[in-house]
Amino acid sequence: MVKQVGVIGAGQMGVGISHVCALGGYEVTLVDVSMERANQGLARIRENMGRQVGRQMISDADMIKAVDLLSGADQLEALASADIVIEAATEDETVKSQIFEDICPLLKQECLLGSNTSSISITRLASRTKRPEKFMGVHFMNPVPLMKLVELIPGIATSPETIEIFSRFAKDLGKTVTQSEDFPAFIVNRILMPMINEAIYALYEGVGTVEDIDIAMHLGANHPMGPLTLADFIGLDTCLSIMQVMYEGLSDTKYRPCPLLVKYVEAGWVGRKSGRGFYDYTGEGAPKPTR
Ligand code: NAD
Repeated sequence: MVKQVGVIGAGQMGVGISHVCALGGYEVTLVDVSMERANQGLARIRENMGRQVGRQMISDADMIKAVDLLSGADQLEALASADIVIEAATEDETVKSQIFEDICPLLKQECLLGSNTSSISITRLASRTKRPEKFMGVHFMNPVPLMKLVELIPGIATSPETIEIFSRFAKDLGKTVTQSEDFPAFIVNRILMPMINEAIYALYEGVGTVEDIDIAMHLGANHPMGPLTLADFIGLDTCLSIMQVMYEGLSDTKYRPCPLLVKYVEAGWVGRKSGRGFYDYTGEGAPKPTR
């Protein structure tokens, strides 16, 4: 039975995953590279839950109970008694592989490992662990408390039991699950990310301004937000990593990351989380386009 959940990476996704797990009644330990980052993550969870209380989506008592179940750490050793660990660190295969190599000797024998990767081969990540049958992709969507989907991605060695436990776990959190084959970027990002990349090409080639591209897709295709707003929300560094994984993994030039996306990431303009991407979020009022 799953009681204790470990979450690695206290960025936007780790924070969201910890948030829903604590509200679901699990004990959650959130680990990042420093106590400062872990504590920032915990503070964001409290802030986000406070907003949910304000909107009457959860009660005060729900929040108090959930906050009590949360703790932070800067060492993977803190996850020694976890039943499930979900890795949500930076979208970089070297970083993730190192985490899995380091963590395996520290975990309980029966602990399951999930990765929230958006694109990286689950089978390859699993091969860095000593328990590939207990490993799979568990891809939550952003923002986790609001988004209904969890995309499950078994690797070649994942056991049916692992799929069953993660599937039940996600459903118990109120999510709908789908299952994808382990190909670069799976289902959601295989379809979404080329569209975002194409929107950046449209901007790069001068087909439209930032605002016109976003308004066109928002009102013309009935998307809840435009693709450049969405890219800023996801993080442009994450978007670029996903495109690179698809470009390399599928060997097709149609997945070539737009040079303008590369330039924004090189500038450190990676979207909302850095205060600036295709829009500038640092001023008062509505975000302003950056070109
Ligand atoms: P983020 O940049 O907001 O956060 C990443 C966090 O990982 C940072 O706090 C960083 O300090 C931490 N980290 C890096 N190396 C670490 C290590 N060795 N140990 C512990 N923590 C470490 O990124 P994010 O948007 O939260 O994305 C995290 C993962 O979730 C990525 O794999 C990404 O592809 C995936 N994902 C992102 C989205 C999205 O919309 N942003 C959606 C679904 C899945």
